[in-house]
Amino acid sequence: MGKRIVVTGGAGFLGSHLCERLLKSGNDVICVDNLFTGSKENIRHLLNNNYFEFIRHDIVTPLYVECDEIYNLACPASPVHYSHDPIKTTKTSIFGSVNMLGLAKRTNSKILQASTSEVYGDPQMHPQREDYWGNVNPIGLRSCYDEGKRAAETFFMDYHRKYKVSVKIARIFNTYGPRMSCNDGRVVSNFIVRALKNEDIIIYGDGSQTRSFCYVDDLIDALIKLMDTGSDFTGPVNIGNPEEHTILELAETIISLTNSKSKIAFQELPQDDPAKRKPDISYAKESLDWEPKVSLNEGLIKTIKYYGELLNVKL
Ligand code: NAD
Ligand code: UDP
Ligand code: UDP
Repeated sequence: MGKRIVVTGGAGFLGSHLCERLLKSGNDVICVDNLFTGSKENIRHLLNNNYFEFIRHDIVTPLYVECDEIYNLACPASPVHYSHDPIKTTKTSIFGSVNMLGLAKRTNSKILQASTSEVYGDPQMHPQREDYWGNVNPIGLRSCYDEGKRAAETFFMDYHRKYKVSVKIARIFNTYGPRMSCNDGRVVSNFIVRALKNEDIIIYGDGSQTRSFCYVDDLIDALIKLMDTGSDFTGPVNIGNPEEHTILELAETIISLTNSKSKIAFQELPQDDPAKRKPDISYAKESLDWEPKVSLNEGLIKTIKYYGELLNVKL
């Protein structure tokens, strides 16, 4: 028999893919989302499935449902969105996590937290391993997100130690794919949308900063494997693709894959933008028997196809 699974942030980019996968494996899915950055479009194809339920709800306020597992993904994820209302962002990570942990404790559910590579800040260890404590500015423009996620990890570990709640912490590195919102300002969606419209691609800084990009399907595999670990396994575990690229390389690859006439332009680098980021995934390989399978080119081609259809651009 399937499980009753709550996915907070289920109408967002990662959440909608996760709901889809959990339904396919025969589970009953409760998608909880306030639609701040997510959209009903992302879950429209699931709405007439009897095993799928959508609740418009803000996790900053308590939630009483019955369930077996909780994936806590609710939180704006792109720098543009999370800095739009920074106080709300921190509240979502902190009060939202406490409420979901309270729900997990009452229902005896396993609970997984979508944490982030941002807990490492602008890292001085490269690649980043889980035992690195990070280099984070507590009072900057990105702090609402970074420190909120760090505090959430603290709550998760303390609920585990004090109340024996079975918690799982996934530190997710940059992930991309279909259903990333067109206007959320993250680099892959920005570059593809501009390339498809033959508009200038804007690089912040000189483009030498690096990121490591994971395709959404690989990420979802890892989240489900992490949830399925035994009740003592908490993580944190890095989930991401260790293939590292400069932002300039990414721009050139996207221009080439879209046959775009776009030119590259440069703008000032935002405050506290990390210079490099690459996960060490040895722990995920060993504990989850997981590693990403989709190459950047393969993933970008699928993502470009999605935006092409969305924007009605012939490829
Ligand atoms: P997203 O913005 O598409 O999804 C977030 C979802 O949470 C949206 O549907 C939004 O409406 C919902 N939400 C926000 N605040 C809420 C609240 N208070 N109550 C209820 N719902 C709320 O972003 P995403 O990329 O799908 O990210 C999902 C999760 O994964 C986030 O927690 C994010 O921090 C984490 N993450 C993502 C990445 C990535 O590269 N995509 C990297 C690291 C961590
Ligand atoms: N909570 C919730 N759903 C539940 C159980 C609890 O949203 O099914 C909320 C509850 O409102 C509380 C928070 O989770 O604010 C933390 O719950 P916990 O039981 O840990 O704390 P307490 O109620 O003792 O403060
Ligand atoms: N970036 C860029 N142009 C854009 C959007 C982002 O050059 O249109 C850069 C950004 O400054 C950062 C990197 O791309 O160095 C990744 O940005 P994103 O917002 O996707 O995620 P981050 O990893 O910074 O949270």
